[in-house]
Amino acid sequence: MKNIFILTGAGISAESGIATFRAEDGLWEKHKVEDVATPDGFRRNPELVHNFYNERRRQLKTVTPNAAHFALAKLYNNYSQGIVTIVTQNIDDLHERAGATAIHMHGELEKMLCLNCRKSCLWQEDSSIESICTNCEKRGVLRPDIVWFGEMPYFLAEIESCLLKSSLFVAIGTSGLVYPAAGYVQLARAAKIKTLEMNLEKTAASQFFDAGIYGKAGQTVTEWVEEILIK
Ligand code: NAD
Repeated sequence: MKNIFILTGAGISAESGIATFRAEDGLWEKHKVEDVATPDGFRRNPELVHNFYNERRRQLKTVTPNAAHFALAKLYNNYSQGIVTIVTQNIDDLHERAGATAIHMHGELEKMLCLNCRKSCLWQEDSSIESICTNCEKRGVLRPDIVWFGEMPYFLAEIESCLLKSSLFVAIGTSGLVYPAAGYVQLARAAKIKTLEMNLEKTAASQFFDAGIYGKAGQTVTEWVEEILIK
């Protein structure tokens, strides 16, 4: 078995027209990260946070998967030498719409989390501080089911277990700054798993990878998948 573990970040969706998270200026779609992606920000101004994710959710309906998502779906469905695991930090659904299954460690735009019954529900329209939980039917208790800064990502044990059963770790379109995902390259190295970074350009984490392929994911990922599938 030669399992492949793939971690994707905002860069894989950039060519679909979804802005990446700009770590340099601390802004995400013109908003301060602490206002729209922290539990404190939600407590301070829940309306702003609902509206921010409403905009992201509406935008999702106007974009489509790009060549990199389709290439990974092809690998996911056709690789015969082992299992392909795709773990994404992205909250969009472009891996799924391209035909793959991805583990969403940072939650999903089209889900809301109920602060009363703690259940997550599918949510494809706008939400507000008045929205009603589809499960417990209580009003005003929903928040976007997104893992915000300071919160624990989902599926960590499952993700680590899949990573440690792989022979190749590939990070695609991620800046390598957001933990714990940023630590996976170190974990892979310690377990003697080969590591490959694919990004538009070198990142702060590039030095930790065995190899790197740099350029737009639409092209680099497509070429890399073709190579893997003919091997
Ligand atoms: P990031 O924004 O910090 O980094 C994006 C990386 O992608 C950068 O290193 C950049 O060089 C690279 N990149 C940009 N365009 C590329 C392209 N065409 N091809 C290949 N690489 C490209 O993203 P992150 O590391 O994923 O962390 C950001 C956090 O913000 C995540 O937790 C995520 O949940 C959230 N986020 C998600 C989305 C989304 O769902 N699409 C978008 C923005 C932010």
